[in-house]
Amino acid sequence: MRTPNLARPAGRIITVTKLARCLWCGDVLPRPTGVGRPRIYCRRSHRQRHYEARRLASVQGLRDDEVLLTRKVIEEWRDQIYILEAAIEDAERDLEGKPSLRDYTEAFQHLYEAARGVRSFRIEPKAMGGE
Ligand SMILES: [Zn+2]
Repeated sequence: MRTPNLARPAGRIITVTKLARCLWCGDVLPRPTGVGRPRIYCRRSHRQRHYEARRLASVQGLRDDEVLLTRKVIEEWRDQIYILEAAIEDAERDLEGKPSLRDYTEAFQHLYEAARGVRSFRIEPKAMGGE
């Protein structure tokens, strides 16, 4: 499934493709091949974990829009957010005035390094309502 092309200020076009993702971990699923129902989990164990999380949500009385996370997951996520916020503030400060191409390049590299940790970060709840 594709979403519309987005025009960038420089005039180049980027295409945003909405990828099917695992209902449990959010990893991108392989493109469907042949017939049959499209996959909704990247592996069988994630189907099982999702089932257990929904079951625990039911036992805990969670609503459809609620999830239960461990303190460790929340703290790790907050750390990631903090790293990104700090990098954005650094970049904004470094690009004040009349920044050069080198300033932009260094700001990008700094932001990229800060964002890298998000790529492999996965949030797995203990319990998940709904679905
Ligand atoms: Zn998965």
